[in-house]
Order: sequence, then C-alpha cells, then structure tokens
Amino acid sequence: MTQKITIAIDGFSSTGKSTIAKQLAKKLGYIYVDTGAMYRAVTLYAMQKNYISDTHFNPNDLIADLQNISVSFVYNDTLGFAEMFLNGLNVEKAIRSIEVSRLVSKVATISEVRKKLVSEQQEMGKNKGIVMDGRDIGSVVFPDAELKLFMTASADKRATRRYKELLDRGDTVTYQEILHNVQERDRIDETRADSPLILTDDAIEFDNSNMGLKDQFERIMTLVEMRLH
Ligand code: C5P
Repeated sequence: MTQKITIAIDGFSSTGKSTIAKQLAKKLGYIYVDTGAMYRAVTLYAMQKNYISDTHFNPNDLIADLQNISVSFVYNDTLGFAEMFLNGLNVEKAIRSIEVSRLVSKVATISEVRKKLVSEQQEMGKNKGIVMDGRDIGSVVFPDAELKLFMTASADKRATRRYKELLDRGDTVTYQEILHNVQERDRIDETRADSPLILTDDAIEFDNSNMGLKDQFERIMTLVEMRLH
C-alpha cells in the first residue's frame, strides 16, 4: 500500500489555497482541513459575545471564554465538503461574511487562540493522509510535512476572485472594500509576533496569477507523486 503523506498549503488570502487543497484531497482520498474556517468560527463567537467589533477588542474576555468554544467540521454529502459548526450550530455561511473577514486577523494574533486551534489541527493530522491549508501549516502545525506549498497571486487577482465569490453568494460589497480587506489581512498575518505567515525554505512557491487551475493541479500532482514513491 502506498504510504500517506501530509500536505501543507500556506499563502496569502484568496490565492486559491482551498481550491487546490480540495482537488488534492479528492484525488488522493485524503482529509481536507480549512484552518481559516476555525479562526473565522472563533471570531464569530467573539463577535456574538461582543468581545470584538470594528471599534473595540477585549482579548482577555475571549481568552477567558475559550474553553466554551467548540469548533468542528461536519461532512455534507450533498455539497461534497465539510461545513464548519460552532458549538453545534452550522456557521458555514456566517463565517464567510465581510464582517468576520474584517476582524478575523486580529483574533488570529492571540497566542491562546492559536494554541487551542493548532493542537486540534495536529490531532486531526496525526495519521497523515491530510491536506491542510492556512497561514502557519508548514511552519508551525506540521513542520515535518512531506509537501509544503506556498501560494501567491497579485492583490488585484485575489481581490477579484474574492469579490466574485461574495457577489455570487448574494453579499453587498464593493471591489475596493475587498481589495482593502485582503491587503490588510495579509499585512496583519505577515507581521504578527506569533506564527506569522512566512515562506519556509522547504516550501515550493506557486504564483497562480496567470496559471489555469488544471495546469496548477497537474504540476502539484507531479510533486505529490514524487513524494509518494
Ligand atoms: O483562510 P482564510 O482567509 O479563511 O483565513 C482567515 C484568517 O484566519 C486569515 O486572514 C488569518 O488571519 C487567519 N488564519 C491564521 N492561521 C491559519 C489560518 C487562518 O492566522 N492557519
């Protein structure tokens, strides 16, 4: 039987990490974990409890309440992917809103939040056979991953993709607002003290600004196959 590996996918916001991760997981029969969804769910909880808004943030209140937050993925057969549940409720749509996107990177700077989520992520991947995407997967969560990818694309391409996604789901947003959001999130993610977004020496960088999905998938599958044999 072919051995199973761990695939870590990091990179900037809206670089198509989840698209390639889902394609790989499907092809290989691996588990796919979108760690951004976990940070988004914790952020939604903090918003509901009024620990954070556009005008204030009380990290200590959130930290004191962390033990009451349970985030889990539940596979939806009809949709063909796992949806995010927060304390037993399906929050898959709510966590993708622009309001959550505006606040999530602030919540993700808190070390206690990261510690909780990283340990859950490591548990999910302990038997390998996993594709995980995020910002610190190759650097912190699975430093020994057999394949580490780092995705980039121009800010304009990324904002255009995200803008289209949000319009498709019926949100009222402007392109400028989305561009500002992806740039601001990248800035916070790259400069935070705990687990900043970095390109590790052993990661392979993919700039997919001008690369088709099929081409990208084939190139990455070649890298996967090299590691499987
Ligand atoms: O992947 P997504 O864009 O949904 O992630 C939302 C935010 O969660 C990121 O901008 C980042 O601040 C945070 N995040 C993180 N570490 C991860 C995954 C996401 O800090 N592993």
